[in-house]
Amino acid sequence: MTQKDIIVAGAGIAGLTAAIAFAARGFSCSIFERSEKLEEVGAGLQLSPNATRLLDRLGVLDLLRPHAVQPEAVLLRKAGTLGRLARVPLGENAERRWSAPYLVIHRADLQSALLEKVAREPNIRLTTGAEIRAATPIETGVQVSIDVGGASRTLDGLLLIGADGVWSKTRALVAPSAKSRFAGEVAWRTTIASDSPGGRMLCEIGANAVVTAFLHPGAHLIVYPVRAGTAFNLVAFTPGERIADGWSGNADIAILLKALRGVAAELNQLVPAAGPWTVWPIHTIDPASQWTRDGAVALIGDAAHAMTPFAAQGAAMAIEDSVTLAALVAETPANMAAALAQWEAKRRPRVQRVARRGALNRFAWHAGGPAALARDLFLKTRSPEGLAADMDWLYGWQPGA
Ligand SMILES: Cc1cc2nc3c(=O)[nH]c(=O)nc-3n(C[C@H](O)[C@H](O)[C@H](O)COP(=O)(O)OP(=O)(O)OC[C@H]3O[C@@H](n4cnc5c(N)ncnc54)[C@H](O)[C@@H]3O)c2cc1C
Repeated sequence: MTQKDIIVAGAGIAGLTAAIAFAARGFSCSIFERSEKLEEVGAGLQLSPNATRLLDRLGVLDLLRPHAVQPEAVLLRKAGTLGRLARVPLGENAERRWSAPYLVIHRADLQSALLEKVAREPNIRLTTGAEIRAATPIETGVQVSIDVGGASRTLDGLLLIGADGVWSKTRALVAPSAKSRFAGEVAWRTTIASDSPGGRMLCEIGANAVVTAFLHPGAHLIVYPVRAGTAFNLVAFTPGERIADGWSGNADIAILLKALRGVAAELNQLVPAAGPWTVWPIHTIDPASQWTRDGAVALIGDAAHAMTPFAAQGAAMAIEDSVTLAALVAETPANMAAALAQWEAKRRPRVQRVARRGALNRFAWHAGGPAALARDLFLKTRSPEGLAADMDWLYGWQPGA
């Protein structure tokens, strides 16, 4: 069964992790990535223990640790007063509680670590400048049409994994009606050098060595260190206009400053001091839509179920998808249709629960008036350990659970 390749569309977090997970199970894999060059797209990512546990098993954690930071805690603070609402202990507490570290990292550093692992794996081939165009189920798996440098090629594979992100083309092969939907929010992202005036400002307000969410009616900011502590990732989430499909657009900070009216002077001053800013429209895919077809195609990561980033779990879900899919296919390689159906049935409740958690965070973090008062009172009654225990179902998850 391993004579034919697993074909992977996309070399983002999902596609690279899937190839590594399948290669670890003895399959050979061909990854086709549309971009000519894997560039530094994206910004910071929080990698919770449910994801780092799997990266450790795949031999990737040691490659990314030198670039990551292990934050001491997640702090919820009010953007208006900078007052603290809650603290969830991380650092060694997280490692003890969930048996894996909670890390923060730049997406480019995670992608580089995955690429380094891929380069060391003889069973994985990566072709860039190659776009998957179409796929047809055949008796022995799947036949895929690929454009490589303008020339069309056909390849037979055991399975096509669509890991081509929220604007996936492979999704049309599985669930043509499942279109990406603009969530009404945009993410304003910037990276700030720790030794710059903006970086010093962040240290002065106690934002170093932790993940901080500054909550504000209708908006919130997230800040944490990346790049081994040499920079901060700062993101502001505000209501916004849909920008053309694609990850980033030009940022007009006057709009951001308007959305953040009423935040503390320290945060307000950061907006012009930091930058350049990019704006990222948040798009989602209904997690109830179909992810697999005819034992021939499986969608993973954002291609299957792009979610709002308010639970900081999109990349983690892509990593979980990859490892669980490889395990189930390896268990029943002679019955791919059954393996895919079982995988989809097992994954869907968890992905939907995570998406609901993101919606709850958004509601609580953007609350104003009486809802904000109720939130603050509720958080006052919760101990740091109690807040950590609330995350056991998410961070303590094990594959096969
Ligand atoms: C503001 C923001 C903050 C976030 N924070 C977090 C966080 O803290 N923690 C977390 O876990 N997640 C977070 N996420 C989510 C996370 O970034 C995504 O879920 C994750 O990057 C998705 O990975 P992917 O591989 O599925 O898709 P992508 O990263 O989009 O990769 C898809 C790849 O496929 C390629 N491609 C596209 N079409 C084709 C084709 N036809 N053929 C071949 N290749 C193709 C693309 O070029 C790309 O390289 C955040 C997202 C945002 C927007």
